[in-house]
Amino acid sequence: MQSCRYDVMVFGAHPDDAEIGAGGMIAQEVRLGRKVVICDLTAGEMGSNGDAVQRRAEALASAEVLGVSERLCLGFPDRGLQLCDNQISEIVRVLRDYRPRMVLSPWHGDDHLDHVQAAGLVRAAALNARLRKYGSSEPWTVERVWEYFIHETSANPLLLRLDDEDGAIKQKALRCYLSQFQEGEGTVSTRLHGLLQRLEWHDRYAGSQIGAPWAEGFWQREPLGLYDLRNMLL
Ligand SMILES: [Zn+2]
Repeated sequence: MQSCRYDVMVFGAHPDDAEIGAGGMIAQEVRLGRKVVICDLTAGEMGSNGDAVQRRAEALASAEVLGVSERLCLGFPDRGLQLCDNQISEIVRVLRDYRPRMVLSPWHGDDHLDHVQAAGLVRAAALNARLRKYGSSEPWTVERVWEYFIHETSANPLLLRLDDEDGAIKQKALRCYLSQFQEGEGTVSTRLHGLLQRLEWHDRYAGSQIGAPWAEGFWQREPLGLYDLRNMLL
């Protein structure tokens, strides 16, 4: 039985998805000494602003701010994510190679179809990765697949408590994505403009609901157990 190589692997459909929904969690995991890898499924080449090269440079700069040593880009076509075996088997290859304990994807109920497809792809790949008869590489079982929120939020997310430091690092990492968040001459106006301020309000408000400086919401398909009334069984 092989052991895990990474504690957490965060998948995004586009560069910046992981930071928007889970940047604080990533900063927290790194601060706690855990190994995190980010995997962008596309280079985000269909974004209204920026191009693939610029967005890759921004994604790598953000990973550095978060303290993540490795960030992959699988180069699937932007707006072309599909639940097909080509894409699933490539994600299985990555899961079996990196052997993460926990995996995250965008929430399956998001209003952007790429985020929905990313959730389905990661879920299918996590299932296939543990099947002995799928492909020829060693199977790998991910303990849990979590989903994070980008544009839409589930009615009742689990809120992860974040320290001030985690929230500040998330905001700093997001500011690496100048092509997406900075308005200026020649940029096309998108709903990402103004998002940094809205995200700060959102994460601060989520934190206030649980008595924390900041928080991020997460969703879990599998049942979650309680060890006792104070602690979750994870
Ligand atoms: Zn996205």
